[in-house]
Amino acid sequence: MRDRWLADGTHTRFGVLANAWKETVRDAMADIAANLASAKVEVRRAITRRTTDPVERKRMFTALKADRWAVDPFLARQMRTHWKRGRNRTHDQIVVRADKYNTVVDRRGRLWLAVPGLERRQMVRIPLSSTVAPTGTLRLMLRGGRVEVHYQIDASQMRSSQRPCGDRTVGVDKGYTEAVTDSDGGRHGTRLGQLLSSESDQLKERNRRRAKLRSIANTAARRGDHAKAHRIRANNLGTVKRERQAARHRARVRTEIFTAVHRAVDKAATVVAEDLTKSFAGRTTLGRNVNRRLAAWTKGVTAEALTNVSERRGSVLVHVNAAYTSQACHRCGRLGRRSGDRLHCTSCGVVWQADVNAAINILQRAGDPDIALHTPHHAVRQILQDRTDRHRTRLPVQDSSPATAERRANHPNRSAMSNN
Ligand SMILES: [Zn+2]
Repeated sequence: MRDRWLADGTHTRFGVLANAWKETVRDAMADIAANLASAKVEVRRAITRRTTDPVERKRMFTALKADRWAVDPFLARQMRTHWKRGRNRTHDQIVVRADKYNTVVDRRGRLWLAVPGLERRQMVRIPLSSTVAPTGTLRLMLRGGRVEVHYQIDASQMRSSQRPCGDRTVGVDKGYTEAVTDSDGGRHGTRLGQLLSSESDQLKERNRRRAKLRSIANTAARRGDHAKAHRIRANNLGTVKRERQAARHRARVRTEIFTAVHRAVDKAATVVAEDLTKSFAGRTTLGRNVNRRLAAWTKGVTAEALTNVSERRGSVLVHVNAAYTSQACHRCGRLGRRSGDRLHCTSCGVVWQADVNAAINILQRAGDPDIALHTPHHAVRQILQDRTDRHRTRLPVQDSSPATAERRANHPNRSAMSNN
């Protein structure tokens, strides 16, 4: 790509030094390659879901690996779905190689970054708001009249990576009021609910005001007052401030969730959790509903935090099937009545904290002989039903293989009577 642009003169239109655009091209190509690789992970999953035939699977895996997926209709369709593409975000950013910039601390202790400008040997100096000097390849972005400096850091060098994990097995349930609740009853990230609801209220209020302004601008434009319409669109309907506030809010929520997961990992060598990535709905399907969009997003962040923190601190993350974990009583297994944050088990006559009960159920799923990660929802219900029936008639557990469990679940009373 680089050589072709050099040869045909495309590069003269970029208006930046050769080194800068070459690095940017290299960076963009690396991004495309990374997106391709992560799409292939998803498509491999889709292949295993599609067929159990080993020959057919092998054929598709090979085609995918050798980049011959375009000729297979199923693979091509899957790649189109999972390979992110089509949006260029590089109009306001540039990549600077490690040997092309330097950082200096001035007499007042402020950190300055110097990068090559458009004129030779003329560096552009940027004051940084941080006291930690960036390292490695930098990405500079111009956003709302400010410069953002992005760079990679090695997670194994982070302070939290040096912190050891705990030594127990702990179940965690993801919530909205608290980021996570563990099976000991510990609640972590207790400010999450407040952060989310205040953001949701603010967004709704702002969207309402913007809709009003937009209709005023449209009316003005219809009447021919284009100056007024333009003024409103430029001054009141911009996105810079909104984007900046949204970014700040996202950062706060992420910190709350990551800190919460760290608290749980403090005591856990094994963390048992629901696989939150599996049912993560895409942004497009959620539409304009603010609450649902926020909920889906926090779910994704929790999934990311669980994987990321476990990896860094050396704990093992175990995914389990979470079907009915929020409805079943962890003591007797019957489905209870949920009201607010309480779960009432009519059989035990006990009221549990719903989230703690769910975390205990999730923990117990890790050792469950019948309920596997991909056991369908309705089958889980039957297994739970079967267990409580067996418990009621005080039958010894003779065989807990799924086939027997299913047969019993179909005729629970008959099998119970014949054994009495
Ligand atoms: Zn119960």
